Amino acid sequence: MRCLPAIFIHMSNLSRREFAQEFTKLLAAAGLATGLPLNAQPASLQSGAQAPALGPSVSKRLPGDDRMVGIQVGAVSFVDEGITPVLERFAREVGINTLFLATYSYGRGIAGRQVPGQPLPDHGKQEYDTDYHGGNFARTHEQYYAHTPLKKIQAPDYGDFDVIAAIIPEAKSRGMKTFCWYEDSFRRDLEGLEPLLEVTLSGKRASTACFHNPGVQAFWQALTEDYLRSYPIDGIMWGSERQGPFGNALGASAGGARHDPLEISCFCRFCESEAKSRGIDPQRAREAYTKLAALVRDSRSGTRPADGYFVSYWRLLVQYPEILAWEKLWNDGQKNAYKNIYHLAKSIRPETAVGWHIWHNNSFSPFYRAEQDYKEFRDYSDFLKVVMYNNCGGPRLASCIDSLSHSIFADLSPDATLDLIYKNLNYKESKLSDLPHSGLSADYVDRETRRALAGVQGADKKDSADKAIKIWPGIDIDIPTGDNEKKTQPEDVRQAVRAALNAGAHGVILSRKYSEMRLANLRAAGEALRA
Ligand SMILES: [Zn+2]
Repeated sequence: MRCLPAIFIHMSNLSRREFAQEFTKLLAAAGLATGLPLNAQPASLQSGAQAPALGPSVSKRLPGDDRMVGIQVGAVSFVDEGITPVLERFAREVGINTLFLATYSYGRGIAGRQVPGQPLPDHGKQEYDTDYHGGNFARTHEQYYAHTPLKKIQAPDYGDFDVIAAIIPEAKSRGMKTFCWYEDSFRRDLEGLEPLLEVTLSGKRASTACFHNPGVQAFWQALTEDYLRSYPIDGIMWGSERQGPFGNALGASAGGARHDPLEISCFCRFCESEAKSRGIDPQRAREAYTKLAALVRDSRSGTRPADGYFVSYWRLLVQYPEILAWEKLWNDGQKNAYKNIYHLAKSIRPETAVGWHIWHNNSFSPFYRAEQDYKEFRDYSDFLKVVMYNNCGGPRLASCIDSLSHSIFADLSPDATLDLIYKNLNYKESKLSDLPHSGLSADYVDRETRRALAGVQGADKKDSADKAIKIWPGIDIDIPTGDNEKKTQPEDVRQAVRAALNAGAHGVILSRKYSEMRLANLRAAGEALRA
């Protein structure tokens, strides 16, 4: 039993139940019986089956065999390339054991073929789906949508093809798990959407749905219930790549400089009603955000206030606590979506894994990062897919810096802003002029993985083993970037995967979608996972 210490080290992050299972396997591998209760034993030892002797399936198990190796894949890839060839490639070339099926989206980030204008990868149909529509790529079961006006969500793109029904048996036969992966996106022309849309500071309807509108919460619950009651899925992952009015007013994100600070949200009647219940005066909040918008516009035009930019922003926050109160109100609406989805899923099938895609902005904006409290996520998550896309992370961070250095940090040069953000976020990466074409390094993946693991473990070590949630970093494989910007190479993927695993990640999710990945880069992930 000399091998025990090493395995005990590996088990340090496991729950008691997982520990019992690992221990049982270890004893079985050594040909020993166990006194553990039956339900703590692996399935292979249950149902009266004889404990296997030192068979190949047991003796070959390594500590890393239990890690989650996931890939995000949309319906189009199975339609274009066939279910069997795609799954066999995933199994053979990468060792994928979990599919994150893009089951609902109106966006192109996780569904559809390659984004038009970007080079097509070396597999799949060699043409762009410029008529992509989006929606629910599984069958929509109407009985679950009684409490939301959003019912006509069926994606028309692939006829009657129901991606979950088609994939689950094929995945199961290969020992793969199937997760539904759906995101907070809508088409403006979706029937029933208009009254659910957020209202901007200037009084227009936004293109995003308000989390304080009961019809919106009901929709995410309906879709979740539909997936869980209609299909024997293993898990769900939902993502919302949005932030509140404060972050948007500052333009604190990649592409944030294009945000009009008057078109921030939400100021709808549901948000006003929620505000009043918290003792926040909606009129004061509007006045505050209007002043903030004026300051952002002055900052962008280079009209420096006498006391400077930062002091003027801070003064507004002190004079109008409504700014951050309204920001928190928005965040709490989004958190309600997480909580509602989680508790509903657990009430239907407790063993379903439930977790979230955490937006890449977490890597760029200290304001957004402050709002993603990993410890708080422990109460309503089994896992977090923390986005750590290192290649496109370079140009995205540079874009965020360009925006921040023309709003709240306009006292600083863009280079000095980047240095400040590196210090805030604990990275050490390229200088600003190199960032778009250098990307971020594997060291960034390492640091973000360790930060996430530390965050979900929290301070109360005593119960951390049972409460700790899994961290599955999202790995960048060919996420589109602009001309002359960083493009993924196989060595980037190998290094990013190794960095995540060496830092202690419980698995990785290859992202964003198989239909944009080049095969050499995908194989590189497999190489790193096998090493
Ligand atoms: Zn609202």
